[in-house]
Amino acid sequence: MSDLTTFRQEIRDWLNDNCPESMRTPVTQEEQIWGGRNLRFPTEDAKLWFDRCVEKGYCVPDWPEEYGGAGFSAKETRIFKEEMARLNCRAPQVNLGIWMVGPAILEFGTEEQKREHLPKIARGEIRWCQGYSEPGAGSDLAGLQCKAESDGDDYIINGSKIWTSYADHSDWIYCLVRTDPDAPKHEGITFLLFDMASEGVDAKPIELITGETHFCQTFFDNVRVPKKNALGVENKGWTVAKRVLQFERNMMSDMEASANTSGTTPRSAAIEHIGLVDGKLADPVFRQSVVRHEIQKRALDKTQQRMADEFAQGVGDMSVAMILKYVGTEEEKRKYELILKIAGEQALGWSGEGFSDAELQLTRDWLASKTHSIAGGTSEIQLNIIAKRVLGLPDAAGK
Ligand SMILES: Cc1cc2nc3c(=O)[nH]c(=O)nc-3n(C[C@H](O)[C@H](O)[C@H](O)COP(=O)(O)OP(=O)(O)OC[C@H]3O[C@@H](n4cnc5c(N)ncnc54)[C@H](O)[C@@H]3O)c2cc1C
Repeated sequence: MSDLTTFRQEIRDWLNDNCPESMRTPVTQEEQIWGGRNLRFPTEDAKLWFDRCVEKGYCVPDWPEEYGGAGFSAKETRIFKEEMARLNCRAPQVNLGIWMVGPAILEFGTEEQKREHLPKIARGEIRWCQGYSEPGAGSDLAGLQCKAESDGDDYIINGSKIWTSYADHSDWIYCLVRTDPDAPKHEGITFLLFDMASEGVDAKPIELITGETHFCQTFFDNVRVPKKNALGVENKGWTVAKRVLQFERNMMSDMEASANTSGTTPRSAAIEHIGLVDGKLADPVFRQSVVRHEIQKRALDKTQQRMADEFAQGVGDMSVAMILKYVGTEEEKRKYELILKIAGEQALGWSGEGFSDAELQLTRDWLASKTHSIAGGTSEIQLNIIAKRVLGLPDAAGK
């Protein structure tokens, strides 16, 4: 038996022995474990599963053991994820620290920053939020104005960020600030890490289309941050910011896996609402649409797998993640439109009687799917970048 076959068997055995049955079901938004100083668990099983994974470094299986990970290679990490998916195990922790700022700290951080932040993320002690967008800087992110002025060993930060997901529940923020207002716009930005409990930080929730208050506008009024909290070099934060966007787009390219929603698929909805005749969906038109979605989903999964393999071999190309983010989030929107058509009026419940919990969740999932092609860079912007950077096409001005 090859080492990897033995490894797969060991992971499979461990998951079978340690993942409680109730943690092998789709997870609702409320049940997700985001980590943080105020960490709470919806059930004892959720705590048990989280504690067991933290002990093994399984919240961040590919991070080095010295920073709280399991030290798995890329191939081992893929096997670990496959075995988790095979048993439908819930992610033990979801956190922007795991997906975005942690990998950036591993790549750009000083040894002191790695030791300070990474083990806390791995153990779910600190929840992170992302301070990129501003009221006048979304797609044109490099136009950001939130300023950090030098004051001895500190920066003093003034300005605001918008659409900061879960800022009001987060402990730390990674934030883009302008440290040189006279430099060309991409060159005067610094990537700063700071505590949301710092004096002068105020996060005000904004209501989302799904009814949740997922977003905040986050205000900074003379917030004092030590200069040593800069990740990477002063005024060179755009390099770190772009890398984090790549991590974000990579994560979002598999929205079905990361969104953790009601678990309804076009197939399950069709079986429930249309029914089968001779083992086939009774309606040929919907049958075709369901199959089209499944083929597209399979192609996406396979491309993602290929991308992971290429990264494992050191020949990966991040532009594939950008293409997958565009294709994956657009397909998620089509998937929910299809489920809605199949479920008919049962998919339009918002509250009250006549709808199951799963149906009420479905309406919210459908609305949430519309946000995924905006977050992390809109589809239009992805297409612009793919056209220019991947395909090498000239832009409208012929450049
Ligand atoms: C669910 C969700 C979570 C988010 N979480 C965060 C977060 O945690 N932290 C954070 O900082 N931000 C977050 N965002 C913000 C997100 O990054 C921005 O919404 C996004 O980058 C778009 O910026 P904007 O909203 O300012 O839209 P705009 O940039 O104003 O764009 C408006 C429209 O114009 C189009 N457009 C703009 N420029 C061009 C162009 N050059 N060519 C073609 N079309 C163009 C866009 O595609 C879009 O349709 C989140 C957004 C969502 C939806």
